[in-house]
Amino acid sequence: MTDPNSAPRNLESAGENPSLVEWLRECLDQDELLAKEAGRVRGELTGAHWHWEDNGSDEPLSVDFGLEYLNFDDSSSWARSVSLRSVEEVPTTSVGPLPEFIIHGEDEMKSVHAAHIVAWDPARVLAEIAAKRELLDLHRATARSNSRGRRECITCFETETPCRTLLILAQPYRSRPGFRKEWWR
Ligand SMILES: [Zn+2]
Repeated sequence: MTDPNSAPRNLESAGENPSLVEWLRECLDQDELLAKEAGRVRGELTGAHWHWEDNGSDEPLSVDFGLEYLNFDDSSSWARSVSLRSVEEVPTTSVGPLPEFIIHGEDEMKSVHAAHIVAWDPARVLAEIAAKRELLDLHRATARSNSRGRRECITCFETETPCRTLLILAQPYRSRPGFRKEWWR
């Protein structure tokens, strides 16, 4: 497993001077690897959706933002144990289909944290990465250089690459190793 905050492996070992697009694709590759590993269900499926369940009833829980904690409701003064599980299940030979348990038993889970974790489950992260890759393809460089010896974005008319769309896509990754300030012009 590669630490997303470490330098992109391929570029580092090659001793290259990567373009913004190459560096950004490495960042996305690292995020994808992490999301796929975290999104495994019983070692088989990847990219799982996550939800919270009541450990007593095994029923899914929806987050009520009117309540500070996921574990309490107005009908009970007792905290209930909740777990974060994959929505997807995989058959087992012993006890039937089972989800992946990401957090086994939590008795003090704030509603906002519970909702955020579910909103950014592996399935969502992988969908975000796929969308960003499509944007990278859409804003790739022309095959030929212009009169200034620079290549232009195939989508942004007469704009040298990296175009503003690529720079905006790179923003969330600026703290990752390998980002170069000169890309941001
Ligand atoms: Zn563009």
